Amino acid sequence: MSRTKNVPDMRLLFEKSRPGRVGCNLPAPTTPEVDLQNELGAIRTELNLPELSELEVLRHFTHLSHINYGIETGFYPLGSCTMKYNPKVNERVASLSGFAGIHPLQPEETVPGALEVIACVQEMLQEITGFHRVTLQPLAGAHGELTCLMLIKAYHEARGDHGRKVVLVPDSAHGTNPASAARAGFSVQPIPTNQEGLTDLEALDAALGPDTAALMLTNPSTLGLFEKNIVEICERVHRAGALVFCDGANMNAMVGTTRPADHGFDCMHLNLHKTFSTPHGGGGPGCGAIGVQANLAPFLPKPVIERDAGGRAVFRHDVPQSIGKVSPYYGQFLLAVRALSYLLAFGREHMAEISRHAVLNANYVQARLKDVLPPAHDRFCMHECVLTAQPYKKHGVRALDISKRLIDYGFHPPTNYFPLIVPEALMIEPTETETKETLDAFCDALRSICREAVENPQLLHDAPGSQVVGRLDETAAVKNLDVCWRPS
Ligand SMILES: *Cc1c(COP(=O)(O)O)cnc(C)c1O
Repeated sequence: MSRTKNVPDMRLLFEKSRPGRVGCNLPAPTTPEVDLQNELGAIRTELNLPELSELEVLRHFTHLSHINYGIETGFYPLGSCTMKYNPKVNERVASLSGFAGIHPLQPEETVPGALEVIACVQEMLQEITGFHRVTLQPLAGAHGELTCLMLIKAYHEARGDHGRKVVLVPDSAHGTNPASAARAGFSVQPIPTNQEGLTDLEALDAALGPDTAALMLTNPSTLGLFEKNIVEICERVHRAGALVFCDGANMNAMVGTTRPADHGFDCMHLNLHKTFSTPHGGGGPGCGAIGVQANLAPFLPKPVIERDAGGRAVFRHDVPQSIGKVSPYYGQFLLAVRALSYLLAFGREHMAEISRHAVLNANYVQARLKDVLPPAHDRFCMHECVLTAQPYKKHGVRALDISKRLIDYGFHPPTNYFPLIVPEALMIEPTETETKETLDAFCDALRSICREAVENPQLLHDAPGSQVVGRLDETAAVKNLDVCWRPS
C-alpha cells in the first residue's frame, strides 16, 4: 500500500498575491517624507512584491518545510553517507555563545577554551585511530584526502625521492579519491577489485614500482567489506617505498573496535560530519580531520595545536617543513565542539557500541533482503550493504525504479549505482541510530516493491506518485539549474 501525503498548496507567493492585501501593520511615519527617487535617482519605484496576509505567508513557509525530507521525519538509508541521528544536545552545546561568538582573528590568549576543545578532540581521535598526530584543519573529506596527498608528496621530496608520480586507487573508490590525487599533481592508476570484493593483490604487485607515491584505500571498502588482507597490503606498498592513505569516511564501522594506524596505514582522513555528530547534506560545513604517523607529522599544516610544558593547549607556528595552511583560520571550529560533546557522551567505555550496532543493523538488513535483492558479495558486511536489483532487469525494472517507488512508501531511497563496479547497485547504510522496528518497516517495503516489480512493473515506472513532483529529469536539473522564479 502506498501512503498518500497531504499535498500542500504549491502555488507560489506571487500567484497567491492580491492587490492591496497587507501582512503587517507599520505605524504611520512621524519623520518628513524624502523623495528618494529624485534625490538619489537610482531607487526603483515599481517593486514587484507579492501582497499577502501574515497568515498566508506563515502557512506558505510551514507547508514548504513539510515537503522536505530529513532525518527528523524519516529513515535515511543513503549508503556511503552515514546519515545517522545526531543528538540535539550537541547542537545546543555548539550554539553556546562562548563557542559560537568567537571571532577567528581573536588573539590567542583570549581563546584558551577553544584551543583546549580542539586539543581534546585531536587527542581523542588519535586514541580512536591510533595515529601519532591529528589535525582538524581540512574542511571536507575530499579536502582531507588532498591534504594527506600533499603530505605524502612533501615526505617523498624531503627524502630526495623525486620520481614518485603515481597514485594507485582501487576501482571501487569514491570519486573524490582519483580527483584528489589528480588535484595534488599525481597521475592515477586504477587497481581492480577481485571476485571476493577485495583488492586484487596480484594487480597491486604489478602496479607497484619506483614511481608509486601512494595507495589510497577505503576500509571498509565502498562495497561495505573489510579488507581482510589490509596488513599484507600495507607491507607490500611500504616495501615498494610508497605510503598508504586510508579513506576513513567509513569510520562508523570501526569506532572503538579497531584502529587503522594499527593496520599499517600512514595517514587517513575522518569525516567529522559523518561519524562524529555534525549533520550534513546540502553542502553544509564539514571537517575532514586527518591523522598521520610520526613519519608525516613534520609536514602537517600549520599552525599545529599542541600542549606546552604546563599542559596548556597552544598554537605552534614554527613548523619548518609544514606544507602551509590548508584552510583560513583553523578549520570549522563548531564541528570540533559537536565532536567533543559527542565523544564525551559515549566515553571510552561505550565508544564501540557505535560501530557494533552500525554493523549489526547493516547485516540485519542484508539478511532480511538477500532472497529478493542479492548482496553483491555474499558474506558478512560492515556498516553498509551493497545489493543488486539485477534480477528485476528482465521485468524492465531498474534500481532507480525501486528507489523511486520507495518514496511512495514513505522512505528516502538508498544510494543508487555506486560503487560503479556493481550492476544495478542499491547501497544501504542503516546506521546505529535506527530501531529494529524501523529497519523491519523498511525491509517490508522493499520486499513488497520487489513483488510489485514482477507483478506490476508499471507501478514502479510511474513512481513516485505521492509527491508534489513526479519523476524528475535529474540530468537536466543539474545541467540547467534554475531555482529563480520570476513573475510573468
Ligand atoms: C563522503 C565520502 C568522501 C568525501 O567526503 P566529503 O566530505 O563529501 O568530501 C570520500 N570517501 C568516501 C568513501 C565517502 O563516503
